[in-house]
Amino acid sequence: MTKVVHKFGGSSLSSAARYQAVAQIVLGQCLAGDCVVVSAAGKTTNTLVKLWQSYKQDDNQGFSDILLQLENHQSELIAALFVGHNRSDLLAQLDNELQTITEQAKHGVLHEATLLAHGELWSARVLAYLLTQLGFAAQHVDARQLFTLHNGQLLHQQNKQACKELLQANALFVVTGFIASDVEHQTVTLGRNGSDYSATLLANYLDADAVSIWTDTQGVFSTDPRKVASAIKYPKVCRSQAHLLARLGNPVLHAKTLSPLKNTKIKLQVRSSFDVEASPTEIVKEGYSKAKRFITTFEDLDLIRVDALRQGEVGELSQLIQHSIHHFIAQGECYILVPAAHTHEVLQALSGRANIVESALQGFAVVAAPSDVAQLQVQATQLLNEQNVVVRFLHSDDEYVLFLTDQAIDSDVLAILHDKLVNKGRELAVIIAGLGNVGEVFVAQCQRQVAHLKQQFDVKVVALVRSGKMLFSASGIAIDTWKQQWQNEAVDYANSELIERIGELDYEHKVVIDITASEAFSHLYPQFIKQDCHLISANKYAGTADNTWYQNLREQLTERNLFWRYNTSVGAGLPINFALADLQHSGDKITQIDGVFSGTLSWLCSSFDGSTAFSELVVQAQAMGYTEPDPREDLSGRDMQRKLLILARDIGLTLDLEDIALQPLMPEDMAQGSWDEFLTRREQLDAFYAEQYQQAKAQNQVLRYTGSLSIDEQGKVSAKVGIAFVAKDSAIAHLTPGDNIFVIKSIWYESNPLVLQGPGAGKEVTAAGIHSDLYWLTQRLK
Ligand code: ASP
Ligand code: MG
Repeated sequence: MTKVVHKFGGSSLSSAARYQAVAQIVLGQCLAGDCVVVSAAGKTTNTLVKLWQSYKQDDNQGFSDILLQLENHQSELIAALFVGHNRSDLLAQLDNELQTITEQAKHGVLHEATLLAHGELWSARVLAYLLTQLGFAAQHVDARQLFTLHNGQLLHQQNKQACKELLQANALFVVTGFIASDVEHQTVTLGRNGSDYSATLLANYLDADAVSIWTDTQGVFSTDPRKVASAIKYPKVCRSQAHLLARLGNPVLHAKTLSPLKNTKIKLQVRSSFDVEASPTEIVKEGYSKAKRFITTFEDLDLIRVDALRQGEVGELSQLIQHSIHHFIAQGECYILVPAAHTHEVLQALSGRANIVESALQGFAVVAAPSDVAQLQVQATQLLNEQNVVVRFLHSDDEYVLFLTDQAIDSDVLAILHDKLVNKGRELAVIIAGLGNVGEVFVAQCQRQVAHLKQQFDVKVVALVRSGKMLFSASGIAIDTWKQQWQNEAVDYANSELIERIGELDYEHKVVIDITASEAFSHLYPQFIKQDCHLISANKYAGTADNTWYQNLREQLTERNLFWRYNTSVGAGLPINFALADLQHSGDKITQIDGVFSGTLSWLCSSFDGSTAFSELVVQAQAMGYTEPDPREDLSGRDMQRKLLILARDIGLTLDLEDIALQPLMPEDMAQGSWDEFLTRREQLDAFYAEQYQQAKAQNQVLRYTGSLSIDEQGKVSAKVGIAFVAKDSAIAHLTPGDNIFVIKSIWYESNPLVLQGPGAGKEVTAAGIHSDLYWLTQRLK
């Protein structure tokens, strides 16, 4: 079975040394059963075109000169690469063919495509011989036996069959690019530069895994690297952008190349045969890479308005002039951009249906993510103004904007445009998991916040994840319409798929923001880290996981230079984490943290005055969305125990949950059973609470649920969460229902502690706290 189709273009075969280099690549990269597709060596096709022209013009002298030129080129290649009977064999075949050409020309029966086909026939044969000579048995194959067209349409079924029959496994086939045959067995070509298309077609027919296009550039660049030194080589470009670039005449990939890959999983790589070590550009399926920015230039074009274009007519016209033609519709009118040298031919073909709007145009197109095009148009217009470049025609579409100018865009201007429009700031991809109360608000706040961060950082929300479904868009999800997109496009996913998609994101930085309350989701953190994601958690599970796992996670983060923020897992948006970090970084030593770290328990204890049963308050709190779905999560004290553990770890202690004593705010036996059963026994809870309340009162104190952590002089740690009776005039006693309070003692804040107080729950403040983490992260990444 063919795994990979390797295609080598003319420039890769431009000399004997290049043939040797290609042979080495094939030896190193190919297995028997792979296929190689070749173009004509160097500029051979151009020379053959000239030969045809001199024949048509009855220029006998010219004809024999050009033929001699071809003969010399081929025989020099053969002489440089072969000895013995390989050499004589190849020279004899060449001689035979050249004689036939001469004969046919003499009798006036030369056929254009058959003549042009020689370029590919020669290069396939020479390469196959060379590989065989180097010990890798290879067969050259004439693609006219594989690809048949009828009325210009490829006969896919028949071709597939032919490919499968003729290219049986266990040999290496070197197939001619560019050429095919019609049903009458006449040679036809697939258009200039058609060999890439031959390669992708062959891959399709053979169900190959991948196509490698070996060329003279290292891949797909943001702009022409020969003109702009800072051009960026992109590791990944998605198919639609590659196709658009081809339609705009960018030479790296040709318009038809991608079509056989549609609806297949065949991978496509563009890589350099001159620098095998250089990493390639991969052309990936839609959505598997973010949209990139490109500037592609034009020279000497005419803008032609056409009455109407038939389907396929642009393809026919570009076949006619052997050059790509860009077409677009603007204000309901159909336009084509034609190389000025071919305008006459095109106008003739369109006989009266077209007229020239502007001639001798230069210019460029900026290709970008749809969300960026409008802004880039404004910027480019301004830059052109500053450079005194006059725009004669402007057209913008979803994915690009086209500037047609008087002046050629020289390297200097191109470099400025590139610098300002393409080399944008750093990028951060954001994956948001959990779209509950807080998650929804967080996403809503993103709209403003992302715009704010944009001044320094290009932040894109690329994925939304919620209970087994995800919405993924590598180029970014439009935040204002995410709900609609979620409805239409969210899909079920398995964890492995989520990880894979995240792994494929080609952003400089990525962050997973976990706003779920799911322990299972926190178990994925190590895998996110492997994909080089920073982490932001509102979720408390990872921060309170067992110490070995937790320390391991920290080590992995450090190893990869990644950050983990979890500001909101304690005290919602309150900056407790900043306070603790600051004290420690400035040389203080924290000796004690006391307080109320649960908004729910704060509300319950502060609201209770004996007039309403405690269980009634619990039910009210639940209805207001203050509690966990099962309020016993709060009443058990577990939630506060987790928060105290996070604080403890933040000040450098290696505790586990069990090291924090826990006294629930309910009778212990009520932890069992369902919530409804719990409610049938609510008097038991009320009695429990009332008794504690009275006891506190008898001591002239008030009942609160608090956490406490202290480190004595010997470094011994004691930590607990539970019911506490506190003095009526203490800060804890005066807490506004729902607020959290942190009372921090340290060497500097010994007798008069540092107190931090405020809302410790609520979707707005929590979501804002997560934004604080995101902002912090972007500041660190700069
Ligand atoms: N040799 C042909 C040409 O020059 C086909 C190709 O290079 O892809 O157009
Ligand atoms: Mg070529």
